[in-house]
Amino acid sequence: MKRNLSRLCLCFGSLISSCVYADTFIHAGHLFDGTSEKLRSDVTIVVDDNKIVEIRDGFARPGDEDEVIDLKNSTVLPGLMDMHVHLSSQSEQGAYLDRYTKNEADYALTAANYAKKTLHAGFTTVRNLGDSYNETVALRNAIDKGLLEGPRIFTAAKSIATTGGHADPSNGMARAIRPDTGPTQGVVNGTAEARRAVRQRYQDGADVIKITATGGVLSVAKSGQNPQFMNDELSAIVETANDYGMTVAVHAHGKEGMDRAIKAGVTSIEHGTYMDDETMQLMQEHGTYYVPTIMAGKFVAEKAKIDGYFPELVRPKAQKIGPLIQNTFEKAHKAGVKIAFGTDSGVSAHGDNAEEFVYMVEAGMSPADALLSATRHAAALLNVEDTLGSIEKDKLADIVAVPGNPLEDISVMKSVTFVMKDGKIIKQK
Ligand SMILES: [Zn+2]
Repeated sequence: MKRNLSRLCLCFGSLISSCVYADTFIHAGHLFDGTSEKLRSDVTIVVDDNKIVEIRDGFARPGDEDEVIDLKNSTVLPGLMDMHVHLSSQSEQGAYLDRYTKNEADYALTAANYAKKTLHAGFTTVRNLGDSYNETVALRNAIDKGLLEGPRIFTAAKSIATTGGHADPSNGMARAIRPDTGPTQGVVNGTAEARRAVRQRYQDGADVIKITATGGVLSVAKSGQNPQFMNDELSAIVETANDYGMTVAVHAHGKEGMDRAIKAGVTSIEHGTYMDDETMQLMQEHGTYYVPTIMAGKFVAEKAKIDGYFPELVRPKAQKIGPLIQNTFEKAHKAGVKIAFGTDSGVSAHGDNAEEFVYMVEAGMSPADALLSATRHAAALLNVEDTLGSIEKDKLADIVAVPGNPLEDISVMKSVTFVMKDGKIIKQK
Protein backbone atom coordinates (compact mmCIF):
# COMPACT_ATOMS: atom_id res chain seq x y z
CA MET A 1 0.00 0.00 0.00
CA LYS A 2 1.37 3.39 -0.93
CA ARG A 3 0.48 6.45 0.99
CA ASN A 4 1.78 9.99 1.05
CA LEU A 5 3.31 9.67 -2.39
CA SER A 6 3.61 13.42 -2.47
CA ARG A 7 5.86 13.35 0.57
CA LEU A 8 9.24 14.86 -0.23
CA CYS A 9 11.69 12.00 -0.39
CA LEU A 10 15.29 12.64 -1.25
CA CYS A 11 16.55 9.43 -2.74
CA PHE A 12 19.18 8.98 -5.37
CA GLY A 13 21.19 6.22 -6.94
CA SER A 14 21.91 3.27 -4.70
CA LEU A 15 20.05 4.85 -1.82
CA ILE A 16 16.76 4.45 -3.60
CA SER A 17 15.87 1.23 -1.80
CA SER A 18 15.87 3.02 1.54
CA CYS A 19 13.37 5.59 0.34
CA VAL A 20 10.43 5.57 2.77
CA TYR A 21 7.38 5.33 0.53
CA ALA A 22 6.37 2.00 1.99
CA ASP A 23 4.20 1.19 4.98
CA THR A 24 5.02 -1.28 7.70
CA PHE A 25 2.52 -4.09 8.30
CA ILE A 26 2.71 -5.59 11.77
CA HIS A 27 0.99 -8.98 11.94
CA ALA A 28 0.02 -9.39 15.60
CA GLY A 29 -1.11 -12.77 16.96
CA HIS A 30 -2.66 -10.93 19.90
CA LEU A 31 -3.17 -7.23 20.42
CA PHE A 32 -3.63 -5.44 23.74
CA ASP A 33 -4.43 -2.04 22.30
CA GLY A 34 -4.70 -0.03 25.53
CA THR A 35 -8.34 0.93 24.95
CA SER A 36 -9.90 -2.02 26.77
CA GLU A 37 -9.03 -4.93 29.03
CA LYS A 38 -9.42 -7.46 26.22
CA LEU A 39 -7.02 -9.02 23.75
CA ARG A 40 -7.81 -9.02 20.03
CA SER A 41 -6.50 -11.89 17.91
CA ASP A 42 -4.99 -11.90 14.41
CA VAL A 43 -4.70 -8.20 13.71
CA THR A 44 -2.68 -6.11 11.27
CA ILE A 45 -1.34 -2.73 12.40
CA VAL A 46 -0.31 -0.48 9.54
CA VAL A 47 2.38 2.08 10.29
CA ASP A 48 3.25 4.92 7.93
CA ASP A 49 6.28 6.99 8.89
CA ASN A 50 5.84 7.60 12.63
CA LYS A 51 2.09 7.04 12.85
CA ILE A 52 -0.39 4.20 13.10
CA VAL A 53 -2.65 4.68 10.08
CA GLU A 54 -4.86 1.63 10.17
CA ILE A 55 -5.77 -1.42 12.26
CA ARG A 56 -7.33 -4.30 10.38
CA ASP A 57 -8.77 -7.64 11.38
CA GLY A 58 -6.80 -10.58 10.02
CA PHE A 59 -3.30 -10.66 8.56
CA ALA A 60 -3.59 -8.17 5.72
CA ARG A 61 -1.50 -8.65 2.58
CA PRO A 62 1.01 -5.89 2.11
CA GLY A 63 1.91 -4.22 -1.16
CA ASP A 64 5.19 -5.02 -2.94
CA GLU A 65 7.17 -2.26 -1.27
CA ASP A 66 5.70 -2.61 2.19
CA GLU A 67 7.60 -4.19 5.05
CA VAL A 68 6.05 -7.00 7.08
CA ILE A 69 6.86 -7.70 10.71
CA ASP A 70 5.77 -11.14 11.80
CA LEU A 71 4.58 -11.07 15.41
CA LYS A 72 1.99 -13.81 14.94
CA ASN A 73 3.33 -15.67 17.99
CA SER A 74 3.44 -12.58 20.18
CA THR A 75 1.21 -10.17 22.04
CA VAL A 76 1.59 -6.64 20.72
CA LEU A 77 1.04 -3.70 23.06
CA PRO A 78 1.41 0.10 23.09
CA GLY A 79 4.90 1.30 24.06
CA LEU A 80 5.18 1.05 27.85
CA MET A 81 5.36 4.20 29.97
CA ASP A 82 7.18 4.47 33.31
CA MET A 83 6.11 7.55 35.28
CA HIS A 84 9.01 7.54 37.75
CA VAL A 85 12.62 6.98 36.77
CA HIS A 86 16.01 8.56 37.47
CA LEU A 87 18.07 7.87 34.37
CA SER A 88 21.29 9.55 35.56
CA SER A 89 22.17 7.06 38.28
CA GLN A 90 21.70 3.59 39.65
CA SER A 91 22.02 2.45 43.26
CA GLU A 92 25.17 0.60 44.20
CA GLN A 93 27.30 0.32 47.30
CA GLY A 94 29.44 3.45 47.64
CA ALA A 95 27.21 5.57 45.38
CA TYR A 96 26.91 8.19 48.11
CA LEU A 97 30.40 9.36 47.16
CA ASP A 98 29.33 10.15 43.59
CA ARG A 99 28.37 13.75 44.29
CA TYR A 100 31.95 14.46 45.36
CA THR A 101 33.61 12.70 42.44
CA LYS A 102 31.28 13.07 39.43
CA ASN A 103 30.81 16.00 37.10
CA GLU A 104 27.86 16.95 34.92
CA ALA A 105 29.26 15.06 31.94
CA ASP A 106 29.59 11.85 33.99
CA TYR A 107 25.91 12.00 34.87
CA ALA A 108 24.94 12.81 31.29
CA LEU A 109 26.83 9.88 29.78
CA THR A 110 25.58 7.52 32.46
CA ALA A 111 22.05 8.66 31.69
CA ALA A 112 22.53 7.97 27.97
CA ASN A 113 23.46 4.36 28.76
CA TYR A 114 20.47 3.81 31.05
CA ALA A 115 18.11 5.48 28.58
CA LYS A 116 19.03 2.88 25.97
CA LYS A 117 18.50 0.01 28.43
CA THR A 118 15.10 1.41 29.36
CA LEU A 119 13.98 1.67 25.75
CA HIS A 120 15.15 -1.86 24.96
CA ALA A 121 13.03 -3.11 27.89
CA GLY A 122 9.97 -1.77 26.04
CA PHE A 123 9.57 1.54 27.84
CA THR A 124 9.19 4.06 25.04
CA THR A 125 8.18 6.94 27.34
CA VAL A 126 9.39 7.88 30.82
CA ARG A 127 8.94 10.66 33.31
CA ASN A 128 12.34 11.48 34.82
CA LEU A 129 11.61 12.78 38.31
CA GLY A 130 14.81 14.41 39.41
CA ASP A 131 18.38 14.69 38.17
CA SER A 132 21.50 16.53 39.35
CA TYR A 133 22.48 19.18 36.78
CA ASN A 134 19.60 19.23 34.25
CA GLU A 135 21.46 16.50 32.35
CA THR A 136 18.18 14.78 31.49
CA VAL A 137 17.02 17.93 29.68
CA ALA A 138 20.08 17.59 27.43
CA LEU A 139 19.45 13.84 27.15
CA ARG A 140 15.83 14.41 26.11
CA ASN A 141 16.92 16.87 23.47
CA ALA A 142 19.63 14.55 22.11
CA ILE A 143 17.17 11.64 21.91
CA ASP A 144 14.53 13.82 20.21
CA LYS A 145 17.14 14.86 17.63
CA GLY A 146 18.03 11.23 16.95
CA LEU A 147 21.57 11.52 18.33
CA LEU A 148 20.96 8.83 20.96
CA GLU A 149 18.66 5.85 21.47
CA GLY A 150 16.27 6.30 24.36
CA PRO A 151 12.67 6.73 25.42
CA ARG A 152 10.65 9.95 25.06
CA ILE A 153 11.54 11.81 28.21
CA PHE A 154 9.32 14.13 30.22
CA THR A 155 11.78 15.50 32.73
CA ALA A 156 11.48 17.45 35.96
CA ALA A 157 15.20 18.36 35.75
CA LYS A 158 16.40 18.99 39.33
CA SER A 159 13.74 18.26 41.99
CA ILE A 160 12.56 20.97 44.37
CA ALA A 161 12.97 20.55 48.15
CA THR A 162 13.26 22.73 51.26
CA THR A 163 16.49 23.21 53.24
CA GLY A 164 17.62 19.84 54.61
CA GLY A 165 14.70 18.23 52.75
CA HIS A 166 14.79 15.03 50.75
CA ALA A 167 16.18 16.55 47.53
CA ASP A 168 18.54 19.14 49.06
CA PRO A 169 21.83 18.15 47.40
CA SER A 170 23.87 19.48 50.35
CA ASN A 171 22.45 16.96 52.85
CA GLY A 172 25.02 15.09 54.91
CA MET A 173 27.92 17.40 54.03
CA ALA A 174 30.21 18.91 56.66
CA ARG A 175 29.79 22.66 57.05
CA ALA A 176 33.21 23.42 55.55
CA ILE A 177 32.24 21.94 52.17
CA ARG A 178 28.48 22.42 52.21
CA PRO A 179 27.28 24.70 49.36
CA ASP A 180 24.67 27.36 50.04
CA THR A 181 21.86 25.85 48.00
CA GLY A 182 18.96 27.94 46.70
CA PRO A 183 16.17 27.86 44.10
CA THR A 184 18.57 27.17 41.21
CA GLN A 185 19.67 23.92 42.90
CA GLY A 186 16.04 23.28 43.81
CA VAL A 187 16.12 24.36 47.46
CA VAL A 188 13.39 26.80 48.47
CA ASN A 189 12.01 28.39 51.62
CA GLY A 190 8.91 30.54 51.40
CA THR A 191 6.57 31.33 48.54
CA ALA A 192 8.84 33.69 46.56
CA GLU A 193 11.61 31.09 46.32
CA ALA A 194 9.08 28.38 45.52
CA ARG A 195 7.79 30.41 42.57
CA ARG A 196 11.31 31.24 41.47
CA ALA A 197 12.34 27.56 41.48
CA VAL A 198 9.38 26.62 39.25
CA ARG A 199 10.15 29.46 36.84
CA GLN A 200 13.82 28.46 36.88
CA ARG A 201 12.83 24.94 35.79
CA TYR A 202 10.71 26.38 32.99
CA GLN A 203 13.74 28.38 31.86
CA ASP A 204 15.94 25.28 32.18
CA GLY A 205 13.63 23.34 29.85
CA ALA A 206 11.86 21.04 32.31
CA ASP A 207 8.53 19.47 31.29
CA VAL A 208 7.11 18.78 34.74
CA ILE A 209 7.78 19.86 38.33
CA LYS A 210 8.89 17.40 41.01
CA ILE A 211 8.85 18.28 44.69
CA THR A 212 9.77 16.27 47.77
CA ALA A 213 6.88 17.00 50.13
CA THR A 214 8.11 14.71 52.90
CA GLY A 215 11.33 13.11 54.05
CA GLY A 216 12.62 10.22 51.98
CA VAL A 217 14.44 6.95 52.41
CA LEU A 218 17.73 7.48 50.58
CA SER A 219 18.63 11.05 51.59
CA VAL A 220 21.21 11.45 54.36
CA ALA A 221 18.67 12.83 56.85
CA LYS A 222 16.87 11.44 59.85
CA SER A 223 13.19 11.45 58.95
CA GLY A 224 11.78 9.45 56.07
CA GLN A 225 8.31 10.88 56.35
CA ASN A 226 8.00 14.30 58.02
CA PRO A 227 6.21 17.11 56.13
CA GLN A 228 8.77 19.42 54.47
CA PHE A 229 6.68 22.10 52.76
CA MET A 230 4.14 24.54 54.24
CA ASN A 231 0.72 24.95 52.65
CA ASP A 232 1.54 28.37 51.21
CA GLU A 233 4.72 27.01 49.58
CA LEU A 234 2.80 24.11 48.04
CA SER A 235 0.11 26.44 46.69
CA ALA A 236 2.77 28.76 45.26
CA ILE A 237 4.39 25.83 43.44
CA VAL A 238 1.15 24.42 42.03
CA GLU A 239 -0.18 27.82 40.92
CA THR A 240 3.10 28.79 39.26
CA ALA A 241 3.45 25.39 37.57
CA ASN A 242 -0.10 25.76 36.22
CA ASP A 243 0.82 29.14 34.72
CA TYR A 244 3.51 27.38 32.66
CA GLY A 245 1.36 24.36 31.76
CA MET A 246 3.39 22.02 33.95
CA THR A 247 2.04 19.26 36.21
CA VAL A 248 3.43 18.62 39.70
CA ALA A 249 4.71 15.21 40.86
CA VAL A 250 5.17 14.77 44.58
CA HIS A 251 7.52 12.46 46.42
CA ALA A 252 5.76 11.62 49.73
CA HIS A 253 5.87 8.89 52.35
CA GLY A 254 4.17 10.53 55.38
CA LYS A 255 0.45 11.28 55.54
CA GLU A 256 0.58 14.93 56.62
CA GLY A 257 2.85 16.11 53.81
CA MET A 258 0.87 14.06 51.32
CA ASP A 259 -2.49 15.46 52.45
CA ARG A 260 -1.22 19.03 52.23
CA ALA A 261 0.08 18.43 48.70
CA ILE A 262 -3.14 16.79 47.49
CA LYS A 263 -5.22 19.69 48.84
CA ALA A 264 -2.89 22.13 47.09
CA GLY A 265 -3.83 20.45 43.79
CA VAL A 266 -0.74 18.45 42.79
CA THR A 267 -0.99 15.92 39.98
CA SER A 268 0.54 12.73 41.38
CA ILE A 269 1.76 11.23 44.64
CA GLU A 270 4.88 9.07 44.33
CA HIS A 271 5.49 6.17 46.77
CA GLY A 272 2.65 7.25 49.11
CA THR A 273 3.71 4.78 51.78
CA TYR A 274 1.71 5.98 54.81
CA MET A 275 -1.47 7.08 53.04
CA ASP A 276 -4.59 6.06 54.95
CA ASP A 277 -8.29 5.80 54.03
CA GLU A 278 -8.74 9.53 54.47
CA THR A 279 -5.81 10.29 52.13
CA MET A 280 -7.18 7.87 49.52
CA GLN A 281 -10.53 9.63 49.76
CA LEU A 282 -8.81 12.99 49.28
CA MET A 283 -6.97 11.68 46.22
CA GLN A 284 -10.22 10.56 44.65
CA GLU A 285 -11.89 13.89 45.38
CA HIS A 286 -9.00 15.78 43.78
CA GLY A 287 -8.36 13.30 40.95
CA THR A 288 -4.76 12.80 42.14
CA TYR A 289 -2.80 9.93 40.60
CA TYR A 290 -0.87 7.42 42.67
CA VAL A 291 2.48 6.22 41.28
CA PRO A 292 3.42 3.37 43.65
CA THR A 293 7.07 2.35 42.90
CA ILE A 294 6.69 -0.99 44.74
CA MET A 295 9.96 -2.33 43.40
CA ALA A 296 11.98 0.56 44.85
CA GLY A 297 10.58 -0.25 48.30
CA LYS A 298 11.43 -3.91 47.96
CA PHE A 299 14.89 -3.11 46.61
CA VAL A 300 15.94 -0.81 49.47
CA ALA A 301 14.54 -3.19 52.12
CA GLU A 302 16.65 -5.98 50.65
CA LYS A 303 19.84 -3.87 50.42
CA ALA A 304 19.39 -2.61 54.01
CA LYS A 305 20.29 -6.15 55.13
CA ILE A 306 23.84 -5.65 53.78
CA ASP A 307 26.27 -3.97 56.19
CA GLY A 308 27.64 -0.75 54.73
CA TYR A 309 25.37 -0.65 51.66
CA PHE A 310 23.63 2.47 53.00
CA PRO A 311 24.90 5.13 55.43
CA GLU A 312 23.73 4.33 58.99
CA LEU A 313 21.25 7.23 58.92
CA VAL A 314 19.55 5.72 55.86
CA ARG A 315 19.51 2.04 56.81
CA PRO A 316 16.65 2.03 59.39
CA LYS A 317 14.46 4.10 57.06
CA ALA A 318 15.00 1.58 54.23
CA GLN A 319 14.19 -1.31 56.57
CA LYS A 320 11.01 0.28 57.85
CA ILE A 321 9.48 2.10 54.89
CA GLY A 322 10.58 -0.14 52.00
CA PRO A 323 8.45 -3.22 52.70
CA LEU A 324 5.22 -1.23 53.21
CA ILE A 325 4.62 0.11 49.71
CA GLN A 326 3.15 -3.03 48.14
CA ASN A 327 0.54 -3.17 50.90
CA THR A 328 -0.30 0.54 50.43
CA PHE A 329 -0.70 -0.13 46.71
CA GLU A 330 -3.09 -3.01 47.39
CA LYS A 331 -5.30 -0.79 49.57
CA ALA A 332 -5.20 2.19 47.22
CA HIS A 333 -6.12 0.02 44.25
CA LYS A 334 -9.04 -1.53 46.15
CA ALA A 335 -10.20 1.95 47.21
CA GLY A 336 -10.31 3.04 43.56
CA VAL A 337 -7.45 5.57 43.55
CA LYS A 338 -6.22 6.33 39.99
CA ILE A 339 -2.94 4.48 39.48
CA ALA A 340 -0.18 5.15 36.96
CA PHE A 341 2.78 2.80 36.59
CA GLY A 342 6.11 3.90 38.05
CA THR A 343 9.20 2.13 39.34
CA ASP A 344 11.74 4.68 40.64
CA SER A 345 14.29 2.85 38.46
CA GLY A 346 17.70 4.17 39.34
CA VAL A 347 17.00 2.82 42.80
CA SER A 348 16.55 -0.65 41.24
CA ALA A 349 18.36 -1.41 37.97
CA HIS A 350 17.35 0.34 34.75
CA GLY A 351 15.84 -2.13 32.31
CA ASP A 352 14.19 -4.18 35.08
CA ASN A 353 11.17 -1.84 35.04
CA ALA A 354 8.66 -4.56 34.06
CA GLU A 355 9.21 -6.32 37.39
CA GLU A 356 6.76 -3.76 38.79
CA PHE A 357 3.93 -5.42 36.79
CA VAL A 358 4.58 -8.67 38.66
CA TYR A 359 4.37 -6.92 42.05
CA MET A 360 1.18 -5.09 41.06
CA VAL A 361 -0.52 -8.33 40.03
CA GLU A 362 0.79 -10.08 43.15
CA ALA A 363 -0.99 -7.35 45.17
CA GLY A 364 -4.36 -8.01 43.55
CA MET A 365 -4.48 -5.88 40.40
CA SER A 366 -5.60 -7.66 37.23
CA PRO A 367 -2.91 -8.02 34.56
CA ALA A 368 -5.02 -5.93 32.17
CA ASP A 369 -5.32 -3.09 34.70
CA ALA A 370 -1.59 -3.24 35.39
CA LEU A 371 -0.94 -2.89 31.64
CA LEU A 372 -3.41 -0.01 31.35
CA SER A 373 -1.59 1.77 34.21
CA ALA A 374 1.55 1.76 32.02
CA THR A 375 -0.23 2.77 28.81
CA ARG A 376 -3.54 4.63 28.73
CA HIS A 377 -3.48 5.90 32.33
CA ALA A 378 0.17 6.98 32.15
CA ALA A 379 -0.61 8.88 28.94
CA ALA A 380 -3.50 10.60 30.73
CA LEU A 381 -1.21 11.56 33.62
CA LEU A 382 1.18 13.17 31.10
CA ASN A 383 -1.69 14.82 29.20
CA VAL A 384 -0.56 13.08 26.00
CA GLU A 385 -3.46 10.69 25.52
CA ASP A 386 -4.15 12.21 22.10
CA THR A 387 -0.88 10.84 20.75
CA LEU A 388 0.31 8.04 23.05
CA GLY A 389 -0.91 5.26 25.36
CA SER A 390 -2.85 3.09 22.92
CA ILE A 391 -2.64 1.45 19.53
CA GLU A 392 -5.24 3.39 17.56
CA LYS A 393 -5.42 5.13 14.23
CA ASP A 394 -3.49 8.43 14.13
CA LYS A 395 -1.47 7.76 17.30
CA LEU A 396 2.31 7.73 17.29
CA ALA A 397 3.77 4.33 16.42
CA ASP A 398 5.20 3.31 19.80
CA ILE A 399 4.66 -0.44 19.74
CA VAL A 400 6.19 -3.34 21.67
CA ALA A 401 5.71 -7.11 21.72
CA VAL A 402 6.18 -9.93 24.20
CA PRO A 403 6.04 -13.70 23.71
CA GLY A 404 2.91 -15.48 24.99
CA ASN A 405 -0.03 -13.85 26.72
CA PRO A 406 0.58 -11.28 29.48
CA LEU A 407 -3.03 -11.54 30.67
CA GLU A 408 -2.32 -15.16 31.60
CA ASP A 409 1.27 -14.68 32.75
CA ILE A 410 2.25 -11.08 33.50
CA SER A 411 5.93 -12.03 33.88
CA VAL A 412 6.27 -12.21 30.07
CA MET A 413 6.41 -8.41 30.21
CA LYS A 414 10.02 -8.88 31.36
CA SER A 415 10.88 -10.46 27.98
CA VAL A 416 10.11 -7.73 25.45
CA THR A 417 11.25 -8.96 22.02
CA PHE A 418 10.17 -6.09 19.77
CA VAL A 419 10.34 -2.33 20.25
CA MET A 420 9.23 0.33 17.79
CA LYS A 421 9.42 3.98 18.80
CA ASP A 422 8.05 6.75 16.64
CA GLY A 423 7.74 4.26 13.75
CA LYS A 424 11.39 3.19 13.95
CA ILE A 425 12.31 -0.37 14.84
CA ILE A 426 14.65 -0.29 17.82
CA LYS A 427 14.74 -3.98 18.70
CA GLN A 428 13.59 -7.12 16.90
CA LYS A 429 14.54 -10.55 18.21
ZN1 LIG B 1 12.41 8.86 42.78
